[in-house]
Order: sequence, then structure tokens, then C-alpha cells
Amino acid sequence: MVYYIVGAILLLWFLGGLSRKLRRRNKVIHIVEDNCTGCKRCIKRCRRQVLDLAGDETGKHVVVKHPDKCTACGDCVKACKFNALEIMDKRERKYKS
Ligand code: SF4
Ligand code: SF4
Repeated sequence: MVYYIVGAILLLWFLGGLSRKLRRRNKVIHIVEDNCTGCKRCIKRCRRQVLDLAGDETGKHVVVKHPDKCTACGDCVKACKFNALEIMDKRERKYKS
């Protein structure tokens, strides 16, 4: 009986993870540059080194350096206090190469 319960829990855990992965497959992080202050909180939070800081005539702001590495986990979105990050569909986003 215990084996059935443990097996069911493991199966649910596996299916939950698979479902989350499939939902995120076509998602990627997007920067709302006008809101970004360049505080770097998101860069420190991202474990996959997706983000980097860049400067231009408007000042310093974050850029998506490695969009292919982004898992759309949302950790950086939670870390940003300025509403400068959002998860969006990859097909809507065009990156410069
Ligand atoms: S946490 Fe937000 S405001 Fe700070 S650098 Fe990242 S995107 Fe910009
Ligand atoms: S969504 Fe996750 S993987 Fe993508 S940039 Fe943010 S913290 Fe990194």
C-alpha cells in the first residue's frame, strides 16, 4: 500500500514538472527598458547568466544576453521592484543577433 502511495506521489511530481516545462517551452524573459534602473537585482538572481548590464545614451539597463538559456522560471521577475521584466512568448520577441 505504501508503495502505491509513494509511486502516485512521484508520478504526480513528475507530471507536474513536465507540464511546467512544456508551458515554459515557448516563453522567454523580456525587458521593459523604460522601467529599468540598472539596479542589477535580476542579474544576481538569475542562475543561468541570461541577463547582463548594458549602457547607451539613455543610461544603464539590463539586456537579454543569452535568450536561449532562459527557462522562463520567473525568478528575476520576482526580484525586480520596478516592473521592468516580463515573461513573454518567444514568437512575439525578436532578438538582434
Ligand atoms: S531588477 Fe529590474 S530595475 Fe533592476 S536591473 Fe533588473 S530589470 Fe532593471
Ligand atoms: S526567467 Fe529565470 S532563467 Fe530567465 S532570465 Fe529570469 S531568472 Fe534567468
